[in-house]
Amino acid sequence: MRDLKKIKISELKGVGPKMNQLLNRINIFTVYDCLRYYPRAYEDLSTTYKFKDKIAEKGLFYVEILSNPTVRRPRPNLDIMSVLVSDGVDTAELIFFNSSFLKNYFKIGYKKYIYGEIKNNKNGLQIVQGQIIKKADIGVFNPIYNLTAGLTNNFLRKLLKLAIDDYSNYIEDYLSNELLKDLKLVDLKTAIKNIHYPKSYEDLESARKRLSFDEIFVLQASLDRTNYRSAIKRGPNISYTKYKKEINKYISSFPFSLTNAQKKVTEEIFTDLESASMNRLLQGDVGSGKTIVASLAAYLTYLNGYQTALMVPTEILAKQHFKSFYKDLSDFGPKIELLTGSTSESDKKIILDKLKNQEIDILIGTHSLIQEGVEFNNLGLTIIDEQHRFGVDQRKILYLKGNNPHNLSMTATPIPRTLALIIYGDMEISSIDELPPGRQPIDTIVIDDSYLTRLDSFVIKQIQAGRQAFVVCPLIEDSETMNLNSVEKVYNRYVSNDFKKNHIKTVFLHGKMKNSEKDEIMNDFAKGKIDIIISTTVIEVGINVPNANLIIIYDADRFGLSQLHQLRGRVGRGQEKSYCVLVNNNKTELAYRRMKVMKQSTDGFYISEKDLELRGQGELMGTKQHGISDFQFINFSNDLELIEFVKKSYKEIYQKIQNNKNNFSQLDYYITDMVNVRFESKN
Ligand code: ADP
Ligand code: MG
Repeated sequence: MRDLKKIKISELKGVGPKMNQLLNRINIFTVYDCLRYYPRAYEDLSTTYKFKDKIAEKGLFYVEILSNPTVRRPRPNLDIMSVLVSDGVDTAELIFFNSSFLKNYFKIGYKKYIYGEIKNNKNGLQIVQGQIIKKADIGVFNPIYNLTAGLTNNFLRKLLKLAIDDYSNYIEDYLSNELLKDLKLVDLKTAIKNIHYPKSYEDLESARKRLSFDEIFVLQASLDRTNYRSAIKRGPNISYTKYKKEINKYISSFPFSLTNAQKKVTEEIFTDLESASMNRLLQGDVGSGKTIVASLAAYLTYLNGYQTALMVPTEILAKQHFKSFYKDLSDFGPKIELLTGSTSESDKKIILDKLKNQEIDILIGTHSLIQEGVEFNNLGLTIIDEQHRFGVDQRKILYLKGNNPHNLSMTATPIPRTLALIIYGDMEISSIDELPPGRQPIDTIVIDDSYLTRLDSFVIKQIQAGRQAFVVCPLIEDSETMNLNSVEKVYNRYVSNDFKKNHIKTVFLHGKMKNSEKDEIMNDFAKGKIDIIISTTVIEVGINVPNANLIIIYDADRFGLSQLHQLRGRVGRGQEKSYCVLVNNNKTELAYRRMKVMKQSTDGFYISEKDLELRGQGELMGTKQHGISDFQFINFSNDLELIEFVKKSYKEIYQKIQNNKNNFSQLDYYITDMVNVRFESKN
């Protein structure tokens, strides 16, 4: 067999040095790259339509010429040819620029196939620059490729035709015929042929289905390869059955009962701890009560004689967690300690000694936990809060401090299930999709700049009543190119006029400031020494200030919905009624619909689904970083069933592939692509 990755594209007929260069520009270097350069869309030449069925859309029309062409020449280098045609129902005008050489092609009574967009404007129906389609091409779907200057679609089509004719026989599959039959998929060769040259809609769909499967399966396999957790060793033995009584006693000490969602995820976690090596992601909105669930896992780990490490991204969060763990759990036995960058050297030495001797059961801290010299006696569980703030390497270091410890990662950024299954392909997922009862709903109000004066007096009133406010802007300083509210601009307003008269204490905060400065401001705010913080999105993570009941987000349309949702979660934590004001001056339909979602819902999962639906998968938060935006076939709005299926049957399918040497080496061939593209290039 020939290795298509080793055949240079320049070996193909018609690819000279110049074309070679152009093809390289769109990342086609080899025949393999070429075959995998999939069309971005198709011209559907399989069906002819009537004009009225395709207004403002593209389609194929079979027309009769009603008049000989007329040609105008408004400028020396421009001629405009116009032809009147009928589709048997309506008449339309075909317009061509600088194509009068085609004049003889259109004569009264001739019939032609035309492909193009049918417009309905005040001159009636028109097709501008339609393509004349040869009879031989009728009935097919013509591929349309992404291009670069100098490269035409026609050239690529011909090149692909050549590549398929001469080389598709060398495409090997990693799925055996038997598996293909079981999975109801077409083989890879057929899929690649049909994705470039589908003869029917069915061809196209079966090719898409096969290539979607590949995207998920091969990604899953490459996640497996990069996974540092041992696949064979199970985690430490942690029994729930043995300690049910103790756990129930701890639960009954809570001043509230667990929500159903909390009960469900706790059960999922306990089952994992008991039966397998856990690597689980717990996702749930801010305030959904993840901490208490984490403390249950840590307590069970303690009861079984193992230590827990809880790692969080900031010092403030570490302290917050330490306080609540200490308050809830220390009466039940576990020794809990805090280790951060500001722990003194002498305290640190004591903590590290105790940790080694297992005189500490739960260690809570920041990145300090993964420093050299931090040695556990028998680390059984790692918990990572806001897990996306840590890199793979950092998580790996913590993991290696134990003997295949269980892991619980947490995030307050709910994402659609489809995306979660892909991005966190190596983890099981638990979701808390319900808030504890009795929360004050946050009022969300959408305004534009014409309301700013009224908004200012509302802010002043809230501050006078003793509350505090967050203000968020998309930029730090004014920009010449973008007409947006910056921290600088808004700050200047908030320290003058009525704000000044009322002695309102406003500070600004942004990502370019030192961490120590930021922490000091946040601490002062938490203590009530500051009334208003004006910032960029740096306030996103963690901070809990129950007295802050107002957040104003300027140019709200500039933020993702999930991000707006996160920001809104900074308020609504206390007894007072809370408000989120979205200032939006963008009058587009899309901006309107996005603001409406924010007004209608406070459910992070729902909002993330809507974000996906309205913005498309390329722009979702985190997707770029995970390489998700290069997925071409999986549709994250619609393919949940397929993704869940692949995830569920992955191990079984993988096993079968592994049993066949030839198939297995083919899978390697594709995984190498994935690993290179999606993982290694990121670091
Ligand atoms: P997050 O999921 O954002 O980490 P927390 O765990 O900090 O949320 O919980 C937010 C608040 O809700 C805490 O004060 C916690 O004590 C409280 N809480 C957690 N679970 C419940 C519950 N089932 N009923 C009432 N309050 C709860
Ligand atoms: Mg939390």
